[in-house]
Amino acid sequence: MNDSLKPKSSNKYKFDIKRPTTFYGLPSVVKFCKKCTYSNQKPISEKEFEHKVATKKTVLGFNHQGICSACIIAEKKKNMIDWKKRYTELKKLCDKYRSRNGSYDCIVPGSGGKDSFVQAYRLKYEFGMNPLTITWAPHIYTDWGWKNLQSWIHSGFDNYLFTPNGKIHRLLTRLAMDNIFHPFQPFIMGQNHFPIKFAAKLKNIKLIFYGDPNVEYGNPDSFNSSSKPQHYFSYKKKENDLKISGLNVKELKKKYNLNSGDLEPYLPISHNELNKSKIDVKYLGYYLNWHPQSCYYFASEKGNFTTSPQRNAGTYQKYTGIDDKVDDFHYYTTFIKFGIGRTSYDAAIDIRNGEITRSEGVNLVKKFDGEYPVRFQSEVFKYLSIDSLVFKKLRKKFKYPDFNFEYFQNLTNKFRSPHIWYYDLNKRNWILRNKII
Ligand SMILES: [Zn+2]
Repeated sequence: MNDSLKPKSSNKYKFDIKRPTTFYGLPSVVKFCKKCTYSNQKPISEKEFEHKVATKKTVLGFNHQGICSACIIAEKKKNMIDWKKRYTELKKLCDKYRSRNGSYDCIVPGSGGKDSFVQAYRLKYEFGMNPLTITWAPHIYTDWGWKNLQSWIHSGFDNYLFTPNGKIHRLLTRLAMDNIFHPFQPFIMGQNHFPIKFAAKLKNIKLIFYGDPNVEYGNPDSFNSSSKPQHYFSYKKKENDLKISGLNVKELKKKYNLNSGDLEPYLPISHNELNKSKIDVKYLGYYLNWHPQSCYYFASEKGNFTTSPQRNAGTYQKYTGIDDKVDDFHYYTTFIKFGIGRTSYDAAIDIRNGEITRSEGVNLVKKFDGEYPVRFQSEVFKYLSIDSLVFKKLRKKFKYPDFNFEYFQNLTNKFRSPHIWYYDLNKRNWILRNKII
């Protein structure tokens, strides 16, 4: 790292500072879960359409023994749920919606990754449903991600691949990177909101299955509910007050010359439209005991699912979230903002599922967490650049239209919370104030 990449106001980032400033409303004292690799800095799912840079994060809860709510819930799932009963509930639900003539009776949103593969496959071949699979395309497909989508389709499914307008998607992704350091946000919004709006347009499909309830990752409110809470995917406000990429829709339209149609695929369904449509949004993970590694074996055996040829940047894993070249940067930004990189996420899930021990997880975190994602850097930077060929006049609205390493480093430093990082003047490098042990 060269000297120009030092913090601009280095006082905030001194090692011996007593009470470092805290960004994003995060807890000022960092604590790690005694059972997994999550810390109390981990935000739990929020309504992305209300997210701006000043939004105070709601974070993962911990009990008085220092155990995070994701681990507590995982334990309850092992011991307290009557899975046979829930399986019967799922059968009943399917009986209610199943079509008699093979026409679509449910939607399974997914990428063709291991989880969506298992969801669609079991619904079709075990519960006799007729799913339409819907994919919100990644920013930039990896070769193996594209192959997995094809394998999914060829294992017996109709698939609707929706690819948002590339120019607008690039613009929103760049703005999300600049404004909230969250390049995946427009993708996440589309992935969450589009299938529901699409079902409402089709009119005759009333059932949508998502996979895991967020509860797995520490979101407590849906633990005992089979339905996805409506406030996560519908809104009562005016469209212009919703947010994408940290900006109000009104502002986006005015400043970047966009219209409602351009932003429509990203925005949640209105409350009225949702109620009229009578769509039921369910979590399959409520009914079936979800186990990521078994999903991997299942999808490989039944559908030719393949892993990435190399481990994902920032982690030891190669079978989760492997279809999008931008994903590496998503996890790099969480590492900068919250001190939680991709290994911390992957290891926490593997520990809870009994795949690895906590100490193995901690060693993996030390080895891989926060690794800078070199492999797709040039492609991703090109994607994030506001080039003159595609964007023409819009280029003038950006002080730094060309996205390069130095610009990214400056952004990185802008979003580092001083309570998580300090700058070591001797090593001329950024160091985490609190490391997992
Ligand atoms: Zn935990």
